[in-house]
Amino acid sequence: IAAENVPDERLAAAGRPLSAVTGAEILAPLISGGHVRYANLDYGASAPALTVVSAYLNEILPFYASVHRGAGYASQISTSVYENARNIVREFVGGRPDDSVIFTRNTTDSLNLLAGCLPTTDGRPAGDVLYLDIEHHANLLPWQGVPHRSIVAADTIAGTIDSVRAELEQGGVSLLAVTGASNVTGEILPIRELAALAHRYGARIVVDAAQLAPHRRVDISADDVDYLAFSGHKLYAPFGAGVLVGRPDWLDAGTPHLAGGGAVKEARLDGVSWATGPARHEGGSPNVLGAATLARATQVIAGLDQDRWHAHESAIRSYLVEGLQAIDGVTVHQIFKDTDPDKDTIGVVNFSVAGYDAGLVAAYLSAEHGVGLRDGRFCAHPLLKRLGLPSGSLRASFGVGSRLEDAQRLLAGIEKLRRDGL
Ligand code: PLP
Repeated sequence: IAAENVPDERLAAAGRPLSAVTGAEILAPLISGGHVRYANLDYGASAPALTVVSAYLNEILPFYASVHRGAGYASQISTSVYENARNIVREFVGGRPDDSVIFTRNTTDSLNLLAGCLPTTDGRPAGDVLYLDIEHHANLLPWQGVPHRSIVAADTIAGTIDSVRAELEQGGVSLLAVTGASNVTGEILPIRELAALAHRYGARIVVDAAQLAPHRRVDISADDVDYLAFSGHKLYAPFGAGVLVGRPDWLDAGTPHLAGGGAVKEARLDGVSWATGPARHEGGSPNVLGAATLARATQVIAGLDQDRWHAHESAIRSYLVEGLQAIDGVTVHQIFKDTDPDKDTIGVVNFSVAGYDAGLVAAYLSAEHGVGLRDGRFCAHPLLKRLGLPSGSLRASFGVGSRLEDAQRLLAGIEKLRRDGL
């Protein structure tokens, strides 16, 4: 059991520092038979850092120094690692040569940054941001502080595209904000088609790729996506860094996201001329290690055999969906009726168990079966309400380290719950 996969409450119960506690020790009293693999089915929240990534972290740690400000050797190395991370990320997402790559704290931060960079005409907002009701709060709440319109997604992808088209036809939309894949159900949105639609009506598109990027290759040039945001911690890198990639004109004219050192060309007591490029938004000392490990993780992901990677996740997903559907009283939830379960989904499965509170089921699976998954409303309250799940549901999510046996353990746990009760 990887130490980083051990749930907090078990560590607290053990009462010793993480380094002194083995996973087996923690789970042994809870699971008859002793030593079991911890079934981490919560990759969608945060994916465990890859071994290659943590090795890289240790490699660059000795050169820890502030970037852009020092002539010293360590500072030069850190600056070059940090700046190179931009190029690696640009390449990973198929960015255009002039795209800005801005390091942020996470996807939420990236989208808030973009909200401060929407275009204006004569000092007034040039248009509305349009978004669907299926979004994670990160791609919903930043737009509530700017002129916006929201629409309810239809129960098919085709119907949803029609609704988006109808709204764009009304005119006055400057930005379409859409998720690449739902964090609630794992369903993928047709990004290329939506980008073409937005452009036809003079709008731009931002894709929240927090869930998509860890599961599918993204190519913003091929898909003609204007802005893309994602987080390192969902992409097998440590917490603390995210990124916004996209067209520089809005970003270079927008409100500096973090005003401070490094974000200015010239500061006077009575005014400022702001820098352009990433520096405009990255005031203060940046998270060099976060950016560098995020970039390193993208290299590993990019090196995976796409077909094998997809087949692996898809096999676990369909096994889990079929298994859950076969259990009496279990419902698997999805937004769209026309989603192709093999092509249009990532490794996320959402479900509920009749008669049981989702939080209770999650706690039972953790304590009795060594399965970690997520319960609740997944920071997508409007969607959960519309799916008829106002008090939440369960989400199993997986990635490159997942095994079929993790899904089997989840199924066994739910079957036992239905058979024997709590
Ligand atoms: N967007 C989606 C689709 C997500 O799943 C998440 C996190 O769960 C976010 C945005 C926010 O990511 P972060 O918490 O890293 O900002």
